[in-house]
Amino acid sequence: MRIAEAYRADKIPLSYEMFPPKGELGIEEARRVLDGLALLDPTFVSVTYSAGGSGNSKRTVDIAEMGARDVGLTMMPHLTCAGADPAQIARSIEALKAAGIENVLALRGDLGRVAASPDYRFAKDLIPQLREAGFCVGAAAYPEGHIDCLDRRENVEHLKEKEDAGAEFFVSQLFFDNEVAYRFLDECRAARIRVPIEFGIMPVTSKAQVARMVFMCGASLPSRLVKILARYEDAPDDLRRAGIEYAADQLCDLARHGVDGLHIYCMNNADTARELHDAVEPFR
Ligand code: FAD
Repeated sequence: MRIAEAYRADKIPLSYEMFPPKGELGIEEARRVLDGLALLDPTFVSVTYSAGGSGNSKRTVDIAEMGARDVGLTMMPHLTCAGADPAQIARSIEALKAAGIENVLALRGDLGRVAASPDYRFAKDLIPQLREAGFCVGAAAYPEGHIDCLDRRENVEHLKEKEDAGAEFFVSQLFFDNEVAYRFLDECRAARIRVPIEFGIMPVTSKAQVARMVFMCGASLPSRLVKILARYEDAPDDLRRAGIEYAADQLCDLARHGVDGLHIYCMNNADTARELHDAVEPFR
């Protein structure tokens, strides 16, 4: 199914992100995650892509193909263009088509490990090529602004450029404060961004994970979450439980606000995905 069509349904779309597992058991592990997610009847499952052409990028397509062909899921592999040239992207497109993929999340990817590409400076430079190849194309949105973008207005202008380049929907970076999402939605609508925006939520599992997120994507921390992290710092099971409750509250609140779609960063844990699914299901 082309994901853009899912936003016309009565029910709020609910999707999940997985990443290619590392090591020998990668594909078997991925199959277990896909089978677990299939029980939740997801709108789609996205699969991350490692920038710079690591072995993991082939696994992205393999997992997306397995999810679509063997498990019957709507899959959305990610594709990054940082450091790529048009011939490399053309090869990636061929591989995606050969795997029967219909949907792609078009990303620039982080700079650092790979140098900026003159052909693809930004994700918006990748989107037209994917649309021309016939894919339904999504792109990333940043409710708190991308880490390199200090100006809220520019953040939304850059999003609008991705819509103008052909993005048919957006999936958001994680955030811990829903007020951030509602303010961002107002800014997007004021900038005449019309395509659906799906909001991404990640349950917290440890203080170290949250610290990584804060510095990687600039996520702000509401005091309720800081208090949870302080209280359960040395009690991993209690922190996991409280983290899932916190994420469930975020998802239910977003659903009650009638957002276009919900996305769960379930970190390859189908049990976590199920708990969050069950919590939000009555509000979709
Ligand atoms: P862009 O939209 O190109 O934006 C990059 C930066 O350039 C931003 O600061 C933006 O404001 C700025 N910019 C955009 N247009 C202009 C312009 N015209 N002029 C000046 N500045 C501009 N990374 C991976 O490696 N693999 C993944 O699978 C992956 N999945 C992701 C999924 C989601 C939902 C999200 C939100 C992020 C994901 N990322 C992934 C991370 C992403 O690659 C990084 O955040 C990356 O730094 C930016 O990618 P982008 O596609 O948003 O880039």
